[in-house]
Amino acid sequence: MTTRVKHVNELRLLDVIIIGAGPAGNLAALNIAKAGFSVEVYDWRTKIGDKLCTGIIGHSCFKEFPPAENDIYRSSSSANIVSPSGKTYLINHRNPQAYVINRISYVKSFADKAIQLGAIYRLNEKVISIDISDSKVSVISETKAGNHTANCKAVIIATGFGSPLLKMAGLGNGGHKNFLTGCQTTVSTDGLSRPTVFLGSNIGRGSFGWLVPTQNNEALLGLATSRKLNGDMDNLTKLLKSKGYYNKIESPQRKWGIPVKPSTPTYSQRALSIGDAAGLTKPTTGGGIYYSLLSGQLAAKTLIQALNQGDLSSKQLKPYESEWKKILNNEIKLGNIARGIFESLRDSQIDFLISKLMTDDVRKDVLEATGVSFDWHGRIINSAFMHSVFGKYLSLVTPELEEKSADIKSKGPIEVA
Ligand SMILES: Cc1cc2nc3c(=O)[nH]c(=O)nc-3n(C[C@H](O)[C@H](O)[C@H](O)COP(=O)(O)OP(=O)(O)OC[C@H]3O[C@@H](n4cnc5c(N)ncnc54)[C@H](O)[C@@H]3O)c2cc1C
Repeated sequence: MTTRVKHVNELRLLDVIIIGAGPAGNLAALNIAKAGFSVEVYDWRTKIGDKLCTGIIGHSCFKEFPPAENDIYRSSSSANIVSPSGKTYLINHRNPQAYVINRISYVKSFADKAIQLGAIYRLNEKVISIDISDSKVSVISETKAGNHTANCKAVIIATGFGSPLLKMAGLGNGGHKNFLTGCQTTVSTDGLSRPTVFLGSNIGRGSFGWLVPTQNNEALLGLATSRKLNGDMDNLTKLLKSKGYYNKIESPQRKWGIPVKPSTPTYSQRALSIGDAAGLTKPTTGGGIYYSLLSGQLAAKTLIQALNQGDLSSKQLKPYESEWKKILNNEIKLGNIARGIFESLRDSQIDFLISKLMTDDVRKDVLEATGVSFDWHGRIINSAFMHSVFGKYLSLVTPELEEKSADIKSKGPIEVA
């Protein structure tokens, strides 16, 4: 880049810069570009969407943000749960509850549409600094040719888990305090029919493991834990190998953080945080694609209004946080209570509760009822605690649960769509 061109770029005031080309950043870019504003998206990766993930989305996400047919590896209306004592239970629905997708291609599809509408993507560029003043935001990134400065009216932080940029933008950055570690590898199998979830202290107390078939007899094997990994992933891979669940490990283990509590505030003067950067995931499973898309959509809506009014004060951007809270807060709170309870249970207690949950009547009421959704776990948690039979077992298991279960019940029955 010549000095003159560089100088022109630095002087130009873009409407919006988005840092992070994951699902959250790409959908925000798409909607902002669609509204006619100039938008640049930065990502230090060279391949959009290539972030550690299993790629499962639920039915609400599937309906609201549909993947292209080619991006769907499989749909799943059933799943197995393997209890700590090794007993396998089947959950079966009439209709698909979850879809295993090609995450890279799905996430990129939003970027492709944004680019068609004029968004500029700057890949292989890591943003190292943000400076917000009363008149603009200055964003500095590292490029092969040296540091690049760009100026914009507003910035969206969509950097995923654990970014120092949040603090620079005056946004909450508590995600690094409340998180799970997710670890995953690819394995070859003889063909698995459905996703399987593994529970028990042989995987790690409070952790859960998964084996999710994708395509061509491959599956993703992983676990999520709120503790240090301490060899848990090695134990899980050995355990599943010894039981014949897979043939061969096909890729090295990778790990990454998953925030489980919102990092507020998610708005400040000229800045918003979305997706994992804002701590918006399902605390039960750590799934965050859907909430990332929802928050990207809501952030774009608020920012477009603010840009139209020429007012990017934190007061003007606050409705974004009010809106995601309206939709997600209760869900995230219930999810965290349920996660806390799960992490406190011993193997024998998990075995007992699963055996009761999987009796025909309870399973049909709680897990297989109409309206139960892989995207809205709050409904499942709430109906488990409100269930006339299973609710009593839950309270019986440990007296300490009483207080937490009262918290859940106080939210009342959650409406089923
Ligand atoms: C093992 C594992 C399995 C998972 N499985 C699922 C699943 O099956 N279903 C589900 O819904 N969720 C799953 N998740 C969570 C899901 O991946 C995230 O919630 C989701 O990707 C968050 O999207 P995002 O757009 O907020 O951030 P990300 O997808 O993390 O994207 C952020 C982007 O920002 C870029 N970036 C960061 N810092 C900078 C910087 N300084 N400069 C430039 N670029 C930067 C990164 O390169 C990245 O591309 C899983 C997570 C893990 C760890």
